[in-house]
Amino acid sequence: MEFEVWWLLAIPVIFGCGWVAARLDLRSLLSESRNLPASYFRGLNFLLNEQPDKAIDAFIEVAKLDPETTELHFALGSLFRRRGETERAIRVHQNLLSRDDLPQADQEHALYELGHDFLKAGLLDRAEDAFSRLHTGAYAKAAQHAKLTIYQIEKEWRKALAEAETLSDLDPAVSYRKEIAQFHCELAQEALQRKDVDAVGHELDAALAVNPANVRAPLLRGDMLLAAGDAEGALRVLRTIEEQNPMYLGLAAKRVMKAYEALGRAPEGLATLREALRKNPSDDLLEIVYEKTVSLEGPEAALILMREQMHRAPSAPGMARLLEAHAATAQGDTQSDLQLMGKLITQRTKSLPRYVCDQCGFRARLFYWQCPGCNGWETYTPRRADVPAAS
Ligand SMILES: [Zn+2]
Repeated sequence: MEFEVWWLLAIPVIFGCGWVAARLDLRSLLSESRNLPASYFRGLNFLLNEQPDKAIDAFIEVAKLDPETTELHFALGSLFRRRGETERAIRVHQNLLSRDDLPQADQEHALYELGHDFLKAGLLDRAEDAFSRLHTGAYAKAAQHAKLTIYQIEKEWRKALAEAETLSDLDPAVSYRKEIAQFHCELAQEALQRKDVDAVGHELDAALAVNPANVRAPLLRGDMLLAAGDAEGALRVLRTIEEQNPMYLGLAAKRVMKAYEALGRAPEGLATLREALRKNPSDDLLEIVYEKTVSLEGPEAALILMREQMHRAPSAPGMARLLEAHAATAQGDTQSDLQLMGKLITQRTKSLPRYVCDQCGFRARLFYWQCPGCNGWETYTPRRADVPAAS
């Protein structure tokens, strides 16, 4: 493309247009702002200075001067809720809803906000009722999401399942497979407690049909078969976890060993777990392999195991076990010194092994399928993290 002289003229013209447009915008903004009461700006100032209490007082004054301003009521309601004053937030939104002249879109908005006020106040039935009234309109999908949250808090898994399935149909781009499979697992867990074997099987089949990567289903099926005395069957199911996702082997290890012991094949079980540990080192797996090696093969074999393991994948809890194994094979002063060192490391590492949520970083001593911090499903890495707790 060749340069043409008239292009030079275009530059000042473009700048000129921009300047005029900016002036027009500024003028309309100034004329609008002249109509607003001074309290509004005071309130805004307080908000900007992170003084929400004073901002609320100023905004209440504006609302008294001009009760028709719906936007201000919405802002006040959300400020009250954020500050934990749910009663006042509820009153603001209920007042808005009682207005006959409120346009349909604002009515839906007020109902949606009211639902969140109830949710924050822990009034789950009333929150569910508010969200259920939003079948259509701009807030329908968000209200369904909120209902899904409520059902999970209430542990109403059947309702949560129906809601997640509806949401999947509404928005095929967002996958709820993980959640739906977990809701089936929750129902299976409940059925397992009431010893309803048919229901457990049915729910677990449904979980795996919707999400074949779900590891909780084979774990629960293993529990069910072990409880029914079918160790062979339990073993067959539990061993599929290695192919599915070897990271979860640590969670399955105790069950696998229990099944082998029930069949009278404990040494074979230990050999299987030792092989799994060699392929996928983890503290959970190491713990059970160490314990079983001590009880089945004695302290010398346990020492060889720990020495090999710590050279391959060193970890603080593993080091404590290595010292313990050394102490078990030593004598006299050396033994008591090693015992002392082992105890000290065990004490220091007690708070170390934690499961960490990938999504929100929440640390827990136990493994959770649903994070207590962010309510996300399967957000915990099943392997314990060898990191100190945040102070
Ligand atoms: Zn989390």
